[in-house]
Amino acid sequence: MPELPEVETTRRGIDAVITGQTLRHLVVREPRMRWPVPPELPALLTDRVVLECARRGKYLLLRFEHGIQLVHLGMSGSLRRVPLDEAPRKHDHVDWVFDHAILRLHDPRRFGAVLWHPAQDGPIEAHPLLTSLGIEPFDPRFDGKWLHDQFRGRAMAVKQALLAGSAVVGVGNIYASESLFRAGIDPRLAAGKVSRPRCDKLAAAIRATLTDALDSGGSTLRDYVGASGEPGAYFTIHAAVYERAGQPCRVCGTPIRRIVQGQRATYFCPVCQRR
Ligand SMILES: [Zn+2]
Repeated sequence: MPELPEVETTRRGIDAVITGQTLRHLVVREPRMRWPVPPELPALLTDRVVLECARRGKYLLLRFEHGIQLVHLGMSGSLRRVPLDEAPRKHDHVDWVFDHAILRLHDPRRFGAVLWHPAQDGPIEAHPLLTSLGIEPFDPRFDGKWLHDQFRGRAMAVKQALLAGSAVVGVGNIYASESLFRAGIDPRLAAGKVSRPRCDKLAAAIRATLTDALDSGGSTLRDYVGASGEPGAYFTIHAAVYERAGQPCRVCGTPIRRIVQGQRATYFCPVCQRR
């Protein structure tokens, strides 16, 4: 599934293509996404200027004068720029048609979403899908103290506490395993037992892991296509532990272990990562 680095890479890509441009038509071929695409949306957005392309968690936020369009890529979604004359293919559900190009949403599994938040409903932060999101990993307030405060008293394993997204958003399954390896923390350790100095290490490791993924144009999805139309680099190629079960740890040579936590695979080095 697209994780935060893919969504941020997409945001940067489409920002360059659509911000400041006038949306001529929104074409909805398939409204049955995770939630139905509001039927009034094409009429609301005809000939409207995209003022900004922002992101909160894994939601892309396309800001117009009269409201914000929320776009989520779900499990399998991708957005890409295509020429005006390119015919849609199967699973190309939504088009944003501009004068110079089309932004096209492709989503075979249809767990994605295209929603609308009218300006009169107040700040987007109050939207029900966004209110429970944790802090952004690149927010200046996110550090070891923040994590330590969020983890205090929690018996849940630290890997699962990261995935829950209430402490910090954007640390999905791959990045949780990779960050814990970098910080030398056993993924099974209770979140509340992670000391303050180790929380400092973990916060730094999360930022470093996400930065590396962004730098490589991060993609975790096999058929992911970046906003430029180029296939994304596969972050897993550079992974230290993720999907490397049985292979030697790049630091100590011990075989990487795979366990299941909350029905998700976790990968770690039993020697480099301590309780
Ligand atoms: Zn190791």
